[in-house]
Amino acid sequence: MRCAFLASLTVVGFLTTAAMLKAAPQQTPALTSAAPQSPMADFWMSGPPVQGGLVIARALKSTRHVFLNGEALQLAPDGLFLLGFDRDAPVQASVVFVLADGSRIARNISVAAGDWHIENVAAHMTGGAKSSAEFEARRGAELERINAARALIHQSNGWRQAFIRPVAGRISGLFGAQRVYNGMPGSYHSGMDIAAANGTAFVAPADGVVILAAADAFTLEGHLLMIDHGMGLNSAFLHASELLVKEGDVVQQGQIIGRVGATGRASGPHLHWGMKWNNARVDPKLLLPAL
Ligand SMILES: [Zn+2]
Repeated sequence: MRCAFLASLTVVGFLTTAAMLKAAPQQTPALTSAAPQSPMADFWMSGPPVQGGLVIARALKSTRHVFLNGEALQLAPDGLFLLGFDRDAPVQASVVFVLADGSRIARNISVAAGDWHIENVAAHMTGGAKSSAEFEARRGAELERINAARALIHQSNGWRQAFIRPVAGRISGLFGAQRVYNGMPGSYHSGMDIAAANGTAFVAPADGVVILAAADAFTLEGHLLMIDHGMGLNSAFLHASELLVKEGDVVQQGQIIGRVGATGRASGPHLHWGMKWNNARVDPKLLLPAL
């Protein structure tokens, strides 16, 4: 069962992911339990870093700024922050803490390699769906809306929650799956597909703010719904038959937000759930309790 949305996902580039958001922020991390607090004490992560994964982390005491591979990260007032790793992230990463006294403390972390479903195909890559004049005419504006939505900054604590599945159903497509045609890698699948009947309600996997609700179906994504969970983490839901929220709505985890469909480029009714943290695509499955 293949998601007809394969190639286009890379073009659009949304959504992100990962693991072990289960670790509740209220939980006392090892860092703070080590008294007295040493500035050299290691920072705490909710789980092992892995490609396509996401962890909640707690900064060193008195941290003012955090950087991942040189990029400044958002840091919550309580010292928690997210660390996400793209599907193709390097297996070594550098986290730098800038403390109140101006000192910098660096930590190198290993990022475990992802285990992606790679399928070698003895055939030439097909061009995918043909690009029509209508597609060309509409696509630019659609991408602009998606990029504008992702640039919005909302306050939400959804990123701190243990995510839940948006809809029950068979997993019909895995994040990271990729076909290689005669040695030529095609685009990988950037989300998780869940098969469900047309019209099945799906819910918000975590709290957030609706940043895009495509009332007019997009060419590829159909009725696209995007939710900002805060801290640079967002979800995108594709191919809906109906959207039950609008842009700017604050949604709660478990709230019905739309209905599964096959709008846009889809071979049948399913929910494609993609997640992105900043510019990293992450695997929604890794945010969920083990199946
Ligand atoms: Zn898909």
